[in-house]
Parts: sequence; C-alpha cells; structure tokens
Amino acid sequence: MKDNIAIVSALKSHKIKVREPIDERCWAYMKLMRETHATKRMVAVNPYAEVYQLRDNLYAILSEHLSGAGDMWDYLIIGPQKAMLIDTGFGVGDLKGLVNELTGSMPLIVVNTHAHPDHASGNCQFDRVYCHAYDVPQLEQMRNPYIWDVLFDEEGKPIWTEFDREDIVPFHKYEIVGCPDGHTFDLGAGHEIELIHTAGHTAGHCMFLDKKHRLLFAGDDVISMRISIGAARPDSPFGEWATVTRYRDQMARLAARLDEFDYVFPGHFVLDLENEVILNLLDAANAIVADPQGFDYEDAFETSAGVAKRYHKFVKGLGTLSYNDKTV
Ligand SMILES: [Zn+2]
Repeated sequence: MKDNIAIVSALKSHKIKVREPIDERCWAYMKLMRETHATKRMVAVNPYAEVYQLRDNLYAILSEHLSGAGDMWDYLIIGPQKAMLIDTGFGVGDLKGLVNELTGSMPLIVVNTHAHPDHASGNCQFDRVYCHAYDVPQLEQMRNPYIWDVLFDEEGKPIWTEFDREDIVPFHKYEIVGCPDGHTFDLGAGHEIELIHTAGHTAGHCMFLDKKHRLLFAGDDVISMRISIGAARPDSPFGEWATVTRYRDQMARLAARLDEFDYVFPGHFVLDLENEVILNLLDAANAIVADPQGFDYEDAFETSAGVAKRYHKFVKGLGTLSYNDKTV
C-alpha cells in the first residue's frame, strides 16, 4: 500500500488515516504534481491550500480531504470583468481571502458542481452560490453551522485529518440559486461559462464549460480511480437522476459536443484529461445499462448504515464507474 508515502507539503493540515488506499496511478500523479509542479505556491492568507496556475487565466486550488477520501480541486477562472470559483472545499482556511488575492478582488461568481461536503462546505464564506436546481435540497440541508461536527471525535479531536478547528471560517447564511441545464454565466467581453447538467454522482451534478478556453470542469462525474454513481439517498428529491442510466444519457449529450472542449478538469486526482475521456465513460455507462450484472468486479464498503456492496465497470484509461442494484 503506497498511500503511506507522505507527500511533501507545507499545508497546515495533515492526514491521520484514510478510508481506502488511493490507487498507485492517482497517488503517483498527485505526489509528483504537488512536489514538482513549477507553478505550485502557498498564499499566506490560507495555509490549507496549494495554488497551481494551469493556464494564463486558470488556477487550481488543492486542499486536503478532511474525512478520509481523495483531496479536492477547486478551480478559479479569471475573466475580463469577473472571476468564477468552481467549488469551495471544506471551508477550513480563508478561501475568500485567497481568491481575492489571486484575482485582485474582482467581482466573483461562486458555483458548485454538486452538493457534497468536500466541494461545498466553504460556500458560507460567500454571499451567493449557484448550482443545478436538483442539488438545491441537499445544499439547503448542508447550510448550517454543524456541518463540520462529523470531522471530530467525542473528545473534539479530528478523526481523519489534523487541522485547527479555529481555522474553520465561521458559518454565515448564504443564498443558494438553483439553475437549469444550459444556464450561462458571463465573465465579461463574451467570456461565457455554461452549466451542463450531468446527473449521476448526485441528482443535480453539473459541469461547467468554459467556452472561450474550451475547458470542461467536471466535478466528481469524471474522476480517475472511481466515479461513484448514485450517491444520493434513495429518499432524496430527484433521486432517479443519480443513476447510471441518466448519467449515460447526459454523457451521450456531452459526447455530441466534443468539438466544444479539449481538456477536462475533475474534482479529484488527475487533471487536464483529453476530451476523449467522455467517450470512454459513455462506453462504460452503455455497457452497464445493457447488462447491469456484467460488472468487472465487486467489493464492499462501509456506510453509516452498515456494509454495502458495490459493482465496478472499467473505464478505458481512467478507472471505474461504481454502482449498485438500485442505481442503474
Ligand atoms: Zn468529491
């Protein structure tokens, strides 16, 4: 198991334990990127984030996962008049201050790819956050000052990742704006970003297409190692969208638009993937829908409700799509 090889980093957070080993390809990619990328830097205002400049107008912000899973990427696009922050991480450390420093305090649009704690807990550092309409109910459930309690044990010590509780930026109630598929944001001078509903990982999971730079920000619907389909609780509204079938339909729509983007930036692990990854995801999803029992392997994982079974279908060049009997 290679996940015990520490990544050399100046982050104030430190991993204590992980939920599962990270596969060697992802681990090697992250270790080499974080230790050798020429643009890597820390910004004093936020000791919980590493900043990478990936294009002239694009930054990736890495922070450590605080409950045992893979570390997250947030992305910052700088447009002519406005900037866009895609996802907000766990909200430990001053993300707003960091973004303002990178943009020179430009007007900012904040968006979420989906309503999960590792991508949306920092929302409360901002006044307004946009997401797809189907993830609004989940985001509303998370809009409270208790979202960080699960990171600590009964004695108040961090369970998964060591960090200073005082560095959680205090909760402030923010506005949630649910958007339809196709909603377009304007960063000025015709620099448009389109919200594309992709479903799958959550009911309202969406991606953001930077039309000017031909880049697709994919959240957790494209991840090396494993994409989990159907993370929504069965009773949650729009739960039927957190299925392989809906994900397949949305990947088919994206596959028809491959001529609009060249590179894909996921929410975790390997980034700057070539656009053909969408075709490989479509192939895997089609194969699952055609034969749900034709998975490549199965395993079990722990949930709050006990041990659950999950199936995996290989995705060429990427990893697996995981699902279960209820999420096809
Ligand atoms: Zn995630």
